[in-house]
Amino acid sequence: MSRLVAGGTVVTATKTFQSDILIEEGRIVGIGENIDRKSSQEIVDATGCYVMPGAIDVHTHLNLNLGEEKVSDGFYHGSVAAAHGGTTSIVEHPGFGPAHCALNHQMDLYRDQAKDEMVVDYGFHGVVQHVDEHVLSAIKGLTATGISSLKVYLTYGGRLGDEDIIKVMKATHAAGGLTAFHAENHAIIGELTQEIRDKGDITDPANHPRSRPDYSEAEAVNRLIALSRAAGNAPIYIVHLSTASGLEIIKEARRNGFQIHVETCPQYLTLTESCYQEADNKRLQYIMSPPLRTQKDCDALWEGLADGSIDVVATDHCSFSFAQKLKNGKTDIFKAPGGIPGVETRVPLLFSEGVLKNRIDLNRFVQLVATNPATIMGLAPQKGSIDIGSDADLMIFDPEIEKIISTQVLHQHVDYTPFAGMRVKGWPKTVLLRGEVLVCDGKLSATKGFGRFINRRKNKYLVKV
Ligand SMILES: [Zn+2]
Repeated sequence: MSRLVAGGTVVTATKTFQSDILIEEGRIVGIGENIDRKSSQEIVDATGCYVMPGAIDVHTHLNLNLGEEKVSDGFYHGSVAAAHGGTTSIVEHPGFGPAHCALNHQMDLYRDQAKDEMVVDYGFHGVVQHVDEHVLSAIKGLTATGISSLKVYLTYGGRLGDEDIIKVMKATHAAGGLTAFHAENHAIIGELTQEIRDKGDITDPANHPRSRPDYSEAEAVNRLIALSRAAGNAPIYIVHLSTASGLEIIKEARRNGFQIHVETCPQYLTLTESCYQEADNKRLQYIMSPPLRTQKDCDALWEGLADGSIDVVATDHCSFSFAQKLKNGKTDIFKAPGGIPGVETRVPLLFSEGVLKNRIDLNRFVQLVATNPATIMGLAPQKGSIDIGSDADLMIFDPEIEKIISTQVLHQHVDYTPFAGMRVKGWPKTVLLRGEVLVCDGKLSATKGFGRFINRRKNKYLVKV
């Protein structure tokens, strides 16, 4: 069936204009004012709304299973929440697999678990947890099967050392892929955590940010830039950047021409470490890594979004429940499972806190939530833009809808939201994926399993803002 999205204001990464959009067989086939209406068409009324590319969240953990603890949502509920928040594609970070497993082990497992569940389109980052000849030679094959980015951790059990990082950077670069990094210094975190343990002070969540200070992130970022240089200037991507000091190093590196892409998340823009000082056990809700930082860090990240030194806003959605955090973390904060939910609130929060507060403009907003993640992570030109031939993934965004964020108004399958009580103005009214309506006026019409695996292409470096 053909659909006509009529009467809206189209907003892309570079332009804002009045236009209708004609959709046939899931793709955009016409863009222009007053496109002829035919009786066979279904009209989607976008009057008074912005028509933007469907948003893309390239950092989710919808399906994380740590054995004893599993996240609350899973692929179905997580993707339903994403759709309600305007997100039409995600790229999931798989958890670590069994020790010494093959490189494709987790991606094969996740593909199998996602295929009948997802309501939005999806891809996976590869995860490298050890390095040997088999892993290095498998990187090329993985990129060729539509998984064109790999995740490497500098902390946690599956972390890599510097020699292995250089090898992975080189192999991934040679295959046309992109290596993404969780940048925190493991030794610093280990030492400071032990000091806190030795003092017996393990029930106070305020010690969480003390165990992972800003210089731990800045050191890791600085080292990664040097390692990328040694790896023949392999392009790198820093996930969930949280600090002003890390950003300063990145700005300098970008001025010197290094290919370093940067992502931050709404929590690092809108919440501060004062959350760990709250009076009751709610403080445990904010256990995430990296931790929340200072207002100065938030301000620097907003500046980075505006001046082009940060490219992407993703979520790191990881919905361990408050109940799980309490159970494991009440007597030892370092045992609370880390991570927060956010896949549904990313777009409205960035609009309210960014666009309405004049920190970023509408086109920059589209770049950050859709076009840049699509370009950097190889979903473009199929996703992330409004162009003839692109998938008709559209977010029809009503700037007048007001909500106060709470678990009651959200569809995330988890017992809390760290953004509870925040007032937002502007919410996706209708969300289309490949021309089909996923959500309209808060009602889901997507069917389980409608989401498709995205065969991602090679990474492209962004044009400067
Ligand atoms: Zn993550």
